[in-house]
Amino acid sequence: MLYHSTNNPAHRVDLKEAILRSLPPDNGLYMPDVLPTLGEDFWNDWRDRSFQDIGFAVAKAFFGEDVPDDALREIVAGTVSFDAPLVTLGPGDHILELFHGPTLAFKDFGARFMARLMAWLTRGDDRELTVLVATSGDTGGAVASAFHNVPGTRVIILYPQGKVSGLQEKQLTALGGNITALEIQGSFDDCQALVKSAFLDRELAERLNLTSANSINLARLVPQSFYYIHAARQLPEGVKPTFVIPSGNFGNLTAGLLAVQLGLPVDQFVAATNLNDVVPEYLRLGQYTPRPSVATISNAMDVGAPSNFVRMQALFGGSWEAMKNRISGFAVDDDQTRAAIRTVKALHDYAIDPHGAIGWLAAQKWRANHPGSATVTLETAHPAKFLDVMEAELGHDCLAIPQRLAVLAGRQKVATLLPADKAVFRDWLCSM
Ligand SMILES: *Cc1c(COP(=O)(O)O)cnc(C)c1O
Repeated sequence: MLYHSTNNPAHRVDLKEAILRSLPPDNGLYMPDVLPTLGEDFWNDWRDRSFQDIGFAVAKAFFGEDVPDDALREIVAGTVSFDAPLVTLGPGDHILELFHGPTLAFKDFGARFMARLMAWLTRGDDRELTVLVATSGDTGGAVASAFHNVPGTRVIILYPQGKVSGLQEKQLTALGGNITALEIQGSFDDCQALVKSAFLDRELAERLNLTSANSINLARLVPQSFYYIHAARQLPEGVKPTFVIPSGNFGNLTAGLLAVQLGLPVDQFVAATNLNDVVPEYLRLGQYTPRPSVATISNAMDVGAPSNFVRMQALFGGSWEAMKNRISGFAVDDDQTRAAIRTVKALHDYAIDPHGAIGWLAAQKWRANHPGSATVTLETAHPAKFLDVMEAELGHDCLAIPQRLAVLAGRQKVATLLPADKAVFRDWLCSM
């Protein structure tokens, strides 16, 4: 399979280059030349298949020409080593829990698949791969956990000082080994600008064998479509889901669109955002106006220029009409988010995190206007990752902290403090 840039269909590369390069040099995004579908042999018995079997079939549809079956099966088994259960709160009101992985957010699926696929693509290469990634919170932890102890790779994570939660910081800084954390005296945007400067420095990028792990990488997107199919098979037969997706960079929603492309019957998609609502606004007005992000309590969705928007446009052939018929937008402010957290607890005795709460509220609205529909709201992170917000709404001791998060509290933070300065960053990279 070849991959082309959304900016230039004539710029085509193979799988290894699309994954290791992550971004085409023309700043577009890579798309597969052919969008795969799953055939009748899959859809005949898909409801009886395991999560891992579904994952393998999807991965084979995308990567089967380049990666042999046994390797792909192993990559999928290493990725989908925990469940994504569907929890039913009330009639038609379903929650898909995506937080049962090691770092308690859905990003574990993408990061674990990418780490394993990259390791396979670079097997036998004699040069170490350097994964460079900027994080505002959840991405860094998932990437660090996924690449920890993967031979032939080292990972450098840049995060903004004082702007990630205490536990998120421990997820980035306490692993050691091949994971190095840089605490940057600046904002997330500064971190991203530093990462970009390293990639633009061709000589440096080549010398360090740099690769990126951010959410525009196709290797993170494809495994996220596994759980859309796995969710639908947990519904009663014949029920067509409406997926409600708390969104920031819109990677998760794009993966849902890929699942439809593969043949999954879906009623509708609801894009739920916080006040960073450029996509709901586009769906309403037909105008796309990216702008600086504003801070909210659902901070993993504080994105003002969603990186996967271009891919969504490509999937709808550039047509606003087509996109707005398939995706409905819904934006929620912090007060509504807090109220939703309290309501879900009061009505269903269920603790939902601030991101999932935004989805849940959008789902209620959707079902009110579309009686009889079944919504599946993606619960993108475990509520314990956002303990401050949860305790403010539900009181102290409202949550049991999962063991894999609790152990982090006692670990030692190890990070290198650097100013948000490109020359200093370059010197640091060269001295490694
Ligand atoms: C990353 C993240 C999101 C946003 O996902 P996108 O794919 O960027 O739209 C939502 N919720 C949580 C908890 C996240 O970590």
